Amino acid sequence: MNGAVQGNQSPIDIDSRAAVSGSGAPFVQFEPTAFRLEDTRYVPLTHQNGVRLDGVTYRLMQIHFHRPSEHFLDGQQFPGEMHIVCQSNSEIAVVGVLLSRVDGVIDLETTPVSLGAVVPSIGRVFRYDGSLTTPPFTEGVKWVVYETPVELPWACVSTRARPLQHKNATLAVLRHEVSHWPAAAVS
Ligand SMILES: [Zn+2]
Repeated sequence: MNGAVQGNQSPIDIDSRAAVSGSGAPFVQFEPTAFRLEDTRYVPLTHQNGVRLDGVTYRLMQIHFHRPSEHFLDGQQFPGEMHIVCQSNSEIAVVGVLLSRVDGVIDLETTPVSLGAVVPSIGRVFRYDGSLTTPPFTEGVKWVVYETPVELPWACVSTRARPLQHKNATLAVLRHEVSHWPAAAVS
């Protein structure tokens, strides 16, 4: 794949039947942390969390929420979507979790929570190279979208969803296994 290819904008309607089975499952480590709300983004108070993709560790920068979901799965939109934004130098990886319900009560600003408790541990994971869904819509973003929707236990500020983007030269890759880092694997 060529990282300079233009036209891979997000979000997309993930066509699970067109996805290619592959290896390279993400490793996630999300230990409990409290968050500080900045505009519509929740910034973690510790940076001991992240995701490892293809041997690269991306550290958790912020999470935010969309209502309804930005990604569709086989034509279906969901009530919400959580985006876990991680970064390694200038490279960005975003973990997307589809939300079947978004009316939780736990306050993220006062209660340390574990993202690992919300990221699905079952189902498939889809990966593709896309873009930020907010300006400047930078491309080259590594997307990881979990198939299994979850009920969000947290009360949160959410933003609108960007409309679906035309799928152009975007390869959705099916990953069968989700692995979780052991505690303290990220230092
Ligand atoms: Zn987002």
